[in-house]
Amino acid sequence: MQAVRIDGKANAESVLRDVTAAGAALHKKTGVKPGLAVVLVGEDPASQVYVANKGRTAEACGFHSVTHRLPADTSQEALLALIDELNADPAIHGILQQLPLPKGLDADVVVGRIDPDKDVDGLTLVNAGRLASGLADDAFVPCTPAGCMVLLRQVLGDDLSGKRAVVVGRSNLVGKPMAQLLLLANATVTVAHSRTKDLPALCREADILVAAIGRPGLLKGDCVKPGAVVIDVGINRVPAPDKGEGKTRLVGDVAYDEAAAIASAITPVPGGVGPMTIAMLMANTVASACRAAGEPRPR
Ligand code: NDP
Repeated sequence: MQAVRIDGKANAESVLRDVTAAGAALHKKTGVKPGLAVVLVGEDPASQVYVANKGRTAEACGFHSVTHRLPADTSQEALLALIDELNADPAIHGILQQLPLPKGLDADVVVGRIDPDKDVDGLTLVNAGRLASGLADDAFVPCTPAGCMVLLRQVLGDDLSGKRAVVVGRSNLVGKPMAQLLLLANATVTVAHSRTKDLPALCREADILVAAIGRPGLLKGDCVKPGAVVIDVGINRVPAPDKGEGKTRLVGDVAYDEAAAIASAITPVPGGVGPMTIAMLMANTVASACRAAGEPRPR
């Protein structure tokens, strides 16, 4: 039987409707409007697209939205001074430093300078520590794994007791926080990476398989347990000669057709996890604004 296609776009729209309503209610009650600042250094084309999308979505949610575009030769001191300014600005509740940074700038130092209470990307050590200590309600959780959990809950419910989960990828941005979130939802979690032996055999044990690798179609049908739920985080641009010379398309880390013939549910690429990431950034920003105004975090 063909797997259910998990619709990230529809789920993201639903999250964004809730965020917009929560932001409007907060503004009406307290006069506080959620504010998001996005900082882009340099000219990386993919980053420019992501940053434009974030600004547009924040505006569509009714937020105060500012984008700082700095030249590639910006010094670390100048960038840190901007972060300090945003940390001190009461109209800003979320700060996102778009990565990667140009050579010569230290991402750990720059991200580490963001006030943890405005770190809506969840990348500071304080927020990573909160999540790792099981204090997810106090943490800003990185947006991509948070979005994956929304999609998983929709299929499997809140409690993943008894489920075996395998996360392939161990980055601080996706793999590690994903594993922490699955653990908090009571799944039994294994994290795989490039040094893992016999990856297909390990993946076949998974009721929940999360791919966050960055290798197009690496996980084939032989990696999928019958009936598993598959979440494909990967975004890879590959040549698509069938569309014309020089054309490309986006594909995930999972060979979709093979996996969809075996799994019970699967996220497509594009249209799966991608749209959720930006929606969860907005959700974190409205949560931060509520916290700053002394109001409860929206559910
Ligand atoms: P990283 O490159 O930081 O991490 C990739 C991970 O995959 C590493 O842990 C690496 O292992 C592991 N890996 C690499 N090759 C293999 C292999 N052959 N077998 C098993 N594991 C392997 O990537 P990110 O976590 O930042 O991103 C992962 C993917 O998700 C990318 O395609 C990225 O574009 C996408 N992404 C999508 C987002 C979205 O919104 N949908 C947001 C963020 C990322 P090791 O640690 O041993 O090197």
